[in-house]
Amino acid sequence: MRALWKQSKFKTLTNKMYCNNCGKKVDEDSKFCVHCGSRLAVSSDNKNEKPNLVSEPKKKKSNLLKIIIILAIIFFGLPMLAAAILVAINPAKRQNQAKDAAIKNDVGLIATELQTYYATSEKYPSSITSLVPKFLTSLPTTPAGSPYGYKTSGGNAVVFAALNDPTVVGNVWCWKSKTGVAQEEAEGTCTQ
Ligand SMILES: [Zn+2]
Repeated sequence: MRALWKQSKFKTLTNKMYCNNCGKKVDEDSKFCVHCGSRLAVSSDNKNEKPNLVSEPKKKKSNLLKIIIILAIIFFGLPMLAAAILVAINPAKRQNQAKDAAIKNDVGLIATELQTYYATSEKYPSSITSLVPKFLTSLPTTPAGSPYGYKTSGGNAVVFAALNDPTVVGNVWCWKSKTGVAQEEAEGTCTQ
């Protein structure tokens, strides 16, 4: 814009323009530079004004659109985002999930040592306290401080603890020696 203004000001004073390519003076009406032959941009007053007339309403429109978008974000986007964040960082749920991660870890640890015990004794102990101190330096407890559940039946063993954030209320995390798998299930089916 500034360059155009300078150019048109210069033109009114001298009726001459400069070539954009070689910088030499050229006649304002010529289409090509007489010095270097490059094509010259046409810049009559009409050409300068037309874009301004067209661009002004466009700017106003885009500003209005910006304001509408910003208002939409403030009134709809932000509350939705806040709700989504609240769900994502739901402190109670996150704490329960962390506790369950610890439970799954402990059950896996006890299960591993039970299998080591079985490898040497060819049976599972009648109580997991027998794993201490040979297999475990101390027996882990649940995040709530209670001992992990342990049952033996028919030569098989199960280790379990109630979950804090189960998919179904009352479900436990259950490892079964029979399958060697730990999974979430009802406490009633976590037998052997
Ligand atoms: Zn030129």
